[in-house]
Amino acid sequence: MTSPIAWTERDRVVWEEELAPWLPERLFDAHVHVFQPASFPPGFTFPPRNCYQRFGGQFDGEQCLDLAERLLPGIEFGMLCFGTPHLQTNRDEAARYCGTIADNERFFGMTMVSPRDDAVEVERRVLEYGLVGYKPYRNFVTGREAELVSIPDMLPAAQMAVADRLGLAITLHIPRTERLASTANRRELVELCRNYPNAKIIVAHIGRAYFLSNVVGYLDELAALPNAYLDLAMVNHPGVLEYTFRNFPTERILFGSDAPIAWLRGKSVEINNQYAYLMGEDYAIGTSIFDLGQAVEFTFFYYEMLRGIRLAAERAGLSRVQIEGIFADNAYALLRGVRASLESRP
Ligand SMILES: [Zn+2]
Repeated sequence: MTSPIAWTERDRVVWEEELAPWLPERLFDAHVHVFQPASFPPGFTFPPRNCYQRFGGQFDGEQCLDLAERLLPGIEFGMLCFGTPHLQTNRDEAARYCGTIADNERFFGMTMVSPRDDAVEVERRVLEYGLVGYKPYRNFVTGREAELVSIPDMLPAAQMAVADRLGLAITLHIPRTERLASTANRRELVELCRNYPNAKIIVAHIGRAYFLSNVVGYLDELAALPNAYLDLAMVNHPGVLEYTFRNFPTERILFGSDAPIAWLRGKSVEINNQYAYLMGEDYAIGTSIFDLGQAVEFTFFYYEMLRGIRLAAERAGLSRVQIEGIFADNAYALLRGVRASLESRP
């Protein structure tokens, strides 16, 4: 049985002394994975050390809002949610579920897409379930080696034509080991934004740039494209965040967490031009180093992100208006705008 996710004394102090006095009253989380067991085949279970096991083997909208209420007390919480990008996920069911959460005022949903999903079917999901766009993922591209997967492989032209025609948002976790340092990735991102100017491209995790040398010099072309956005999910590195705040228009930066992973205890750290997750709990979430001897008391990745954003915002000299933009106004303007244009169609 998993223990409930709750404050330790240290978490309470972090919240009350470092975060609550500084955070805006409204926080919009633009990167949340929620789903119900019905999105998976009957009898499906995650492996024992998968992060969802921390949450009882699933993470639905109710669990998500309960955590936000208890661990972000007093904050008006909103979110953009999508299912979890697993090969066994029923993408239609996951999209339908996100649509039941979406009120398109404070809560918004996306459908996950595989390049094999017919564009007509993808458009139907968005319109019928009341969504704002798509989330592709590299592992939905099957039949070729993971490292060879390109951005157009993940988002075929027919799906992009729908996104452009309807003005949809797309949250994109870029492929390739080199991430934002990959010239192929950056060229494909620029082409995506230019070829589909009415689509809004949200580059997740600042292009997965979790260490400084992976971001410096690599934001300029994107910064110049009016339909390119960044989300900050799982980035707690103050240097990466400060560089981003100084080199990308802040009105196109969206706070996001990658919940529920962000509610585990740990911290992402830069080590020798690489990064690793220092884990305070024994879950396998990628490049991890485990604190088996309990050398330190961890807090949530979520709080480490908020801390990193605060430090970076102070160093970059962001105004209160810019900070409130990153935490809520930018995402609300973007996503309510997507819905308004969808709803005003003839
Ligand atoms: Zn994610």
